Amino acid sequence: MLRSTVAGALASLLFITPLVTPLASARAAPTPPPRVPEAVGAGGVVASIDPDASQIGVDVLRRGGNAVDAAVAVAAALGVTDPFSAGIGGGGFFVHYDARTRQVSTLDGRETAPASADENLFIEDGKTIPFGEVVTSGLSVGVPGTPRTWQRALQRWGTHSLDQALKPAEDLARRGFTVDATFHRQVTQNAARFADFTSTKALYLPAPAVGSTFRNPDLADTYRELREDGVSALYRGGIGRDLVQTVTAPPVDPAAARKVRPGKLTTSDLGNYNAPLREPTRSRYRGLDVYGMAAPSSGGTTVGEALNILETTKLADETPVQYLHRFLEASRLSFADRNRWVGDPSFVDVPTRELLSQEFADSRACLISPTAVLTSPVAPGDPRAPKPCATTGEDAATPYEGTDTTHLTVADRWGNVVAHTLTLEQEGGSGIVVPGRGFLLNNELTDFSFTPVTPGVPDPNLPGPGKRPRSAMAPTIVLHHGTPVLALGSPGGASIITTVLQVLTQRLDRGVPLVEAIAAPRASQRNATTTQAEATFLGTEEAGALHTLGHRFTSTNEIGAVTAVERLPDGRWRAAAETTRRGGGSARAVWPG
Ligand code: GLU
Repeated sequence: MLRSTVAGALASLLFITPLVTPLASARAAPTPPPRVPEAVGAGGVVASIDPDASQIGVDVLRRGGNAVDAAVAVAAALGVTDPFSAGIGGGGFFVHYDARTRQVSTLDGRETAPASADENLFIEDGKTIPFGEVVTSGLSVGVPGTPRTWQRALQRWGTHSLDQALKPAEDLARRGFTVDATFHRQVTQNAARFADFTSTKALYLPAPAVGSTFRNPDLADTYRELREDGVSALYRGGIGRDLVQTVTAPPVDPAAARKVRPGKLTTSDLGNYNAPLREPTRSRYRGLDVYGMAAPSSGGTTVGEALNILETTKLADETPVQYLHRFLEASRLSFADRNRWVGDPSFVDVPTRELLSQEFADSRACLISPTAVLTSPVAPGDPRAPKPCATTGEDAATPYEGTDTTHLTVADRWGNVVAHTLTLEQEGGSGIVVPGRGFLLNNELTDFSFTPVTPGVPDPNLPGPGKRPRSAMAPTIVLHHGTPVLALGSPGGASIITTVLQVLTQRLDRGVPLVEAIAAPRASQRNATTTQAEATFLGTEEAGALHTLGHRFTSTNEIGAVTAVERLPDGRWRAAAETTRRGGGSARAVWPG
């Protein structure tokens, strides 16, 4: 249930009071580790969507590894157990707090378009190729960024080698894990397109039964090769050659009726890939510093702008309905700006500092009325020349973005924190497994605008050579006086931003305990005439009152799948995950109690 105002919520977070072959077999399945949404411990914590992955993470922490060592091990394990959301065929963002330097840094592991790409990447014979056809094709596959991200994170902040960090995931892929309902559903939902590729069909079809053991020896061998030869096995070696071969000549089943377009990825595209360090975004929010992912993700600027807009009212004192109204309106406005201004910073001049200025947020906040709803699409503001209540130019609708990804959050006993979101874009990515390698390729390039979203208005997110499509991923770390108090993230395509914003405000402003804030019914407004909402949200009293204010809703399945950690007043950590979404997440702690 949505909670009413709890006075002093922020104070509570600030430590005044404790916070509150086919490879499935019928053989006896290994007993899966516990799937619990909350855990507290002094030796570090891990929260992910998957019990095997979280188990691997706490094992690493228990043996003395730090948060980065554990995060990479967990992410690699998710490539095994959550392979339709994450893996070495995809990309993501890595946000790190270093307890020694008290610095937040980020790595940009976003996929890139091939050097041959231009604005017309998705135009054929003068017409835009249908979105669905691009999804399941070689054309939407970008150069994977995840392996390089792991390597750079370990080199910079880890104490383990890539060899060590990938070993538990390799073992998991070889030994197998117990198939759960989410895994089964994800295969079933993708069965038609998986059947169209010989490699994907061989690995995943027929859909492994819930409770059976699933093994992926090809992926185990691929991880072993990465362990032995480093990520150059992918960026310059045999795995990369196989990847390019798969993109340029997808292994289409002769019986398939689907038209599968090849992509133009080359071995030099792989060889030129980098996962650069980027300056994080930073926004001040009620005395806290909220750090996020800068462009090419829109996560940091959009969450930050919305928080700045919300800061103009005291959310803690608002009624539950006014709190939600303001949350939805702030999301609407910040999405208008995100769509107009954010793209790959190597190609477009992104006004990051200006988008995050309080002056700009104030100029947007003055558009919000407590008694009426803004009409979407709302036109963007001009962050470089903010004028109170002014909008500029044409509105831009929020394009479709995928709804499947995975997020993990880790803290260690020394106080280092990692928030890492990784994705293949759509559930199952492009649907194409690299033959003999056991991993799916992303379809991340569908995050580009196929054509300018608003004709005549510059679109920062058109494809280009070596360009990174705009993302919504929002791995976030919140500091108080330089020390982390909360870190979180979520999957969910563009709804990642609103999900992170909703959990942040529920926790920081409304004083809702972390697990409840994560479990709370969600709604996502992204500058559209209707707001997406979960059925549980639509069933609340507040939804009725919001409707009276003028909000219109469309019902959607689950929104997001958050994992988070927070520091308790006594220095211990709490890990928190979903109670029911995606079957529930897995929070684990070292030295619990
Ligand atoms: N491709 C999306 C993005 O980068 C993420 C997809 C998802 O979360 O499902 O924003």
